[in-house]
Amino acid sequence: MFSWLRKRRAARDIPDSLWRDLLARYPFLASRPAAELPRLRELAAQFLVTKEFHGANGLVITDAVALAIAAQAVLPVLNLGLAWYDDFVGIVVHPGEVLARRTVTDELGVVHHYNEVLAGEAMEGGPVMLNWSDVDSAGKTAEQGYNVVIHEFIHKIDMRDGAPDGCPPLPTRAARESWLAVMQAEYQAFREKVIIAERFGGEETWLDTYGATGIDEFFAVACEAYFVNRQRFEAEFPALVPLLDSFFRPA
Ligand SMILES: [Zn+2]
Repeated sequence: MFSWLRKRRAARDIPDSLWRDLLARYPFLASRPAAELPRLRELAAQFLVTKEFHGANGLVITDAVALAIAAQAVLPVLNLGLAWYDDFVGIVVHPGEVLARRTVTDELGVVHHYNEVLAGEAMEGGPVMLNWSDVDSAGKTAEQGYNVVIHEFIHKIDMRDGAPDGCPPLPTRAARESWLAVMQAEYQAFREKVIIAERFGGEETWLDTYGATGIDEFFAVACEAYFVNRQRFEAEFPALVPLLDSFFRPA
């Protein structure tokens, strides 16, 4: 249980057997360009010594659990660096989906309580919450472009400059405006497809319809697919690929 990690204060190389098991379980990681894999391994090792994992509801954080999360979490920042994640330390892992109690006050001042099922959650300047069941099955769900770890860590990147808005921090106002122009247009087009599918029996979208609930969710959901099933994502969202490449793979 976390034995290899507990012994190490400084980031060292991940044991070969752990690394091999990881790649076998997550083919979308194994199929990254060969030149990227040493960097992925090194960043994952650094992530493991700088973050603290907490198992909730009886979940035990084993080396394999921690490494699975670390290797997926660092994928978006492979070319950007771990400093993008330096505003938090804690990662809380639940065995399955989490029922969160929510409270909203409507325009009449009436307070409503409801429960929301969460696959994960990211808080501005705070910890990331994940569910192991979804993290564990990420090797299989990559086909549908689904990945809970990438989703939550994209929210963290989006929130580096305040409330999530579908745009990561960019160096200039002009860069931000041109990013949002593309993202808005793609989000609106996706939303329309989802509405047509749900209300009028149109063709179901490949991308998770959760992306139609807000531009920040669209950004996170699109990035999941971009990172785990680039080929299909390119066919579905050709306009988003150069945009995401410009941020995640800077020249
Ligand atoms: Zn989300």
